[in-house]
Amino acid sequence: MLHVKNLKIRMMRTFKCICCGAKIKPLYPEHLDALKPQSGMWDDGTVELITMPYGSILDMNKYLIGICDNCIIKKEKEGVILDYDVYYENQELIEERKKKINKIRRLIK
Ligand SMILES: [Zn+2]
Repeated sequence: MLHVKNLKIRMMRTFKCICCGAKIKPLYPEHLDALKPQSGMWDDGTVELITMPYGSILDMNKYLIGICDNCIIKKEKEGVILDYDVYYENQELIEERKKKINKIRRLIK
């Protein structure tokens, strides 16, 4: 069973946002650990490993999920998700970060 799961994870180089379905691709696919995609760098979003806790009918099941930056921002504004530790809090810093990332993208293409 674990072998099959490992194969599935290895095949998933691109994830879809759980909210809008947008594609989330690894920023550096050549450096992506196929068995730990949650530790990679992702373009315009993230991939995270979640573990369902005791009390859930899915107790101890683990899932890899992707969510894009736009949906994180939107869902935080709607109060659906909470900011836990926000590094880029103000809009100027977010715009500055976007410019840096776009510059990196141009360099690696
Ligand atoms: Zn999305």
